[in-house]
Amino acid sequence: MAEKQRMLSGMRPTGRLHLGHQRVIEYWSTLCDTYDSFYFTADWHAITTQFDDTGHLRDNKREIVIDWLSSGLDPEKCHIFHQSDIKEHAELHLLFSMITPLSWLERVPTYKGQLAAFAEKGKDIATYGFLGYPLLMAADILMYRPVGVPVGQDQLPHVEFCRELVRRFHHLYDVNIFPEPAPIFSQIAILPGTDNRKMSKSYNNYINLSDPPEVIKQKVWGMVTDPARIRKTDPGHPEVCAVYAYQGFYNKEKQAEICANCTKGTIGCGECKKMLTDKINAFLDPIREKRAYYENNPQILDEIIDDGNRAARKVACETMEMVREAMKI
Ligand code: SF4
Repeated sequence: MAEKQRMLSGMRPTGRLHLGHQRVIEYWSTLCDTYDSFYFTADWHAITTQFDDTGHLRDNKREIVIDWLSSGLDPEKCHIFHQSDIKEHAELHLLFSMITPLSWLERVPTYKGQLAAFAEKGKDIATYGFLGYPLLMAADILMYRPVGVPVGQDQLPHVEFCRELVRRFHHLYDVNIFPEPAPIFSQIAILPGTDNRKMSKSYNNYINLSDPPEVIKQKVWGMVTDPARIRKTDPGHPEVCAVYAYQGFYNKEKQAEICANCTKGTIGCGECKKMLTDKINAFLDPIREKRAYYENNPQILDEIIDDGNRAARKVACETMEMVREAMKI
């Protein structure tokens, strides 16, 4: 049987994962059947914006891996590793930094936007490391010479950046080491925040996978509904209601009935929220169970990460040998 082609993705370990992330992990799990999949905690990336607050980094790295595993990522089918355990990423980043024009980094669309967003919160992240994060990301990706990377539309410029870098490296050293990675677009429907805006930690409008049942209840109770509905008999507009959107994800079989009853004014928002609370809790129960298993068996978690690190290091060493040879280092 032909060997599977490699694919890589990662997440910054900046805290507990939420229901929106869970959908991404579910998607990652499906990719494992097609690709030799590498998933990493991007801990060096987390430092680019949280350099003044690294106290929770180690815990966050473990927690994020527990969230991945509890959400169904099968360590038998993929490789899970920490970015900072594979020092070759730093070497490749450094070597790429020698050939990358400064203008390429300055024109990355998210660069100025993020600087401004952090400045609004009173934080200056205009560091050398932050300017270079797209390059570090390119090194992370290209290290595994993958055929593709799963991305959303907003991350397309990063993939294009990688592809340009590949062409420049090959042209400069007259080699052909890296495939130009293609974007792999997911078809997953995006879960909105509890206030119907984009789900985001900065809006505090998310439900964590590790939230206990009473917190789920509180969060569902606080969700944005149709503001025009005061009494149960008021005809509702489910399309503007976050609870209704969530019913589509966690109570799909009842969504049409809820829509009809809401529109006719025959169901109260309290009843609707209660139904959703039960459904989300039922959905999270097996995730909670798996989380407890990994929390109670830290050595199993260590073994999974050791295995993943070993697999990642093997590929990283091969790539760096080729890169050093190409550059005659
Ligand atoms: S009944 Fe349900 S869908 Fe309708 S507004 Fe209330 S919470 Fe939203």
